[in-house]
Amino acid sequence: MKIYERASAKINLSLDVLRKREDGYHEVEMIMTMVDLADRIEMQELPRDTIIISSQAGYIPLDEKNLAFQAARLIKDRYDVRKGVYIHLDKKIPVAAGLAGGSSDAAATLRGLNRLWGLGIPTEELQVLGAELGSDVPFCVTGGTALATGRGERLQPVNNPLQCWVILAKPPINVSTSEVYGKLNAAHIRNHPDTQSILEAIRGKRFDELCHRLGNVLEEVTLELYPQVRQMKEVMERLGADGVLMSGSGPTVFGLVSKEAKVARIYNGLRGFCKDVYAVRMLP
Ligand code: ATP
Repeated sequence: MKIYERASAKINLSLDVLRKREDGYHEVEMIMTMVDLADRIEMQELPRDTIIISSQAGYIPLDEKNLAFQAARLIKDRYDVRKGVYIHLDKKIPVAAGLAGGSSDAAATLRGLNRLWGLGIPTEELQVLGAELGSDVPFCVTGGTALATGRGERLQPVNNPLQCWVILAKPPINVSTSEVYGKLNAAHIRNHPDTQSILEAIRGKRFDELCHRLGNVLEEVTLELYPQVRQMKEVMERLGADGVLMSGSGPTVFGLVSKEAKVARIYNGLRGFCKDVYAVRMLP
């Protein structure tokens, strides 16, 4: 039997770091949402007890370093599944971009194998498993829009009636999430986003206010390290996006746009600066 799952990209409408914890993780407060840009994951049962990963993308690991591999191994070990699986990752989400591509692949693998092997694992349990693989994985299990706290694994769903375009532009550099968190001085952050006001703007469908309040404290580190990201933000603002922010630890910058008539102009303008540009919808 063969099944498919979509693994969507996420963006952060806000990302705040409250403090560094004793266990080395950062205590965060993030509003995350999914966009309509997705990897397609094919899963096929194998008679032999093995996990095989393939992908058309030549630049991701295909061994136990791959998060989809780790997800498959985790579910096999925990539920004592003695069957194998062939997983093909059709990558569309740019890698190491701040769009949680790997985390979303891992979450989709958990959902898919739960189905393929008829394990009947409830969603909350899949999320607990996912937290062992990475802080963004629990959110990616369900998607939607959510407020994430703790190290990102504690989730509160947010009703999001906003419909808008999201233009993504990834400068041609790779950013290491751990390096960015490592360089952040959590005790001396200059500008914290007002998470509660952002939540209210989303729930109240106040698009302009949301655009005005978008905030990500990791910009303080990434924009200093990589001037290309700052430049990408400036270009997107100049081209007329309504709200512009870096996603995750970067380098992808996204622009929210309410009017469809503006989308092509911004998209084409950005293509003059970088080749990784996408115009997608925010998912409900
Ligand atoms: P996040 O926003 O969660 O930090 P990201 O979008 O910045 O994630 P990913 O695309 O998840 O970054 O990739 C981060 C690293 O993980 C890459 O260096 C890549 O080699 C590795 N990786 C492992 N599994 C995958 C996968 N399935 N897809 C993409 N990258 C993967």
